[in-house]
Amino acid sequence: MTSSSKALLPGQNINGQQTTLGVMGGGQLGRMFVHSAQQMGYFTAVLDPDVSSPAGWVSHYHIETDYLDEAGLAQLMQRSVAITTEFENVPAPALYTLGAQRTVAPSARAVAIAQNRVKEKTHFRNCGVACAAFQAIESEEQLNLAMSQADLFPGILKTASMGYDGKGQISVNHPDDLPQAWQALKKVDAILEKKLALAYECSVIVVRGFDGQMVHFPIQKNLHRDGILAVTEVDPGAIEATIADQVIQSAKAIAQGLDYVGVLCVEFFVLENNQLVVNEMAPRPHNSGHYTMNACDFSQFDMQVRSLTRLPLVQPRQHSSAIMLNLLGDLWFKENEEIAKTPAWAELLTLPGCHLHLYGKLEPRKGRKMGHLNITGPNSSEVKAVALKACAILGIQAF
Ligand code: ADP
Ligand code: MG
Repeated sequence: MTSSSKALLPGQNINGQQTTLGVMGGGQLGRMFVHSAQQMGYFTAVLDPDVSSPAGWVSHYHIETDYLDEAGLAQLMQRSVAITTEFENVPAPALYTLGAQRTVAPSARAVAIAQNRVKEKTHFRNCGVACAAFQAIESEEQLNLAMSQADLFPGILKTASMGYDGKGQISVNHPDDLPQAWQALKKVDAILEKKLALAYECSVIVVRGFDGQMVHFPIQKNLHRDGILAVTEVDPGAIEATIADQVIQSAKAIAQGLDYVGVLCVEFFVLENNQLVVNEMAPRPHNSGHYTMNACDFSQFDMQVRSLTRLPLVQPRQHSSAIMLNLLGDLWFKENEEIAKTPAWAELLTLPGCHLHLYGKLEPRKGRKMGHLNITGPNSSEVKAVALKACAILGIQAF
């Protein structure tokens, strides 16, 4: 990592190159980072093996190698003055390699902690932030230890790493069911968590600079369906002030404790007894923060650019009420039909305040995130009314 505290300004000529920002991963989050970076005049370089990756399409440079490919990493470093990541499972060793020679944010260490649910929850505890009771299961001894803890049941067994969108999770109602559940996960490192009675789920995006300064976006209320985020609503005042304060303070303590640099999303559960419990963190912009693109004066991707380049972090401001609807590949398929059809975008876009974001993925598949729709308006009831019309047009279940 460079020790200089000078901002990496766009257009600067370093070694005869335009100032180029690198990103590990070419998914939709990388694409939206690239859009923000380019808007500010930066060049971009994306490393992703997929020739048709959403970010690869729109970047100045696309390095089409595996994430651990030495030549690919060398090329990314040669092109880029600073490098960020856009998906959680970027191999930490690749980030260590990059971090030895370039500014990398978030750091390999922070990403490695976020990649492992046991390390992640241990970090939460160390920061004094409550999470669900849990037991790591990485051995037969720990399996037995988990079975002996009645207060962990009913629970959810989750793979310690590589899980996303609810994948790699099994409900376990009774201790006797645990061995079979772990077997079903092929006995990979796992974590058993107590299943909590949720009133609702929320998340917050915090941004921390190299100098330790932190800003945050408003708190998002999230609705998941089948383990995948479906709807995010952001309406100032919708979340009780005491809970909101606690969410922000907890997320900032978690970022501070990691000496984090970049955009961090922290997801929380609000329990039926109004207790706040942290669930997990994502060391990058997050699906639940997409509303910032149209409802705030700066988006989470703008702030990712600023934090990576040591530009000032100003507190973002929400100027519109917002609802974000995820557009999954399911919408391309009518019931019982196998042939994909384009959703009714023209009809949808007759509605006020609808901002359509599509990620340029070539093939719609059920459960695949193809895009999102941000609906903005002057107040939450008008936005909700438009969102329900949008759901009806697109075939999304009402909420
Ligand atoms: P992923 O990494 O796949 O997003 P999460 O741990 O966030 O995994 O779990 C996905 C969803 O499952 C959560 O958003 C929540 O709805 C539910 N869930 C996860 N853990 C618990 C828990 N301990 N108690 C109740 N619900 C949970
Ligand atoms: Mg989650």
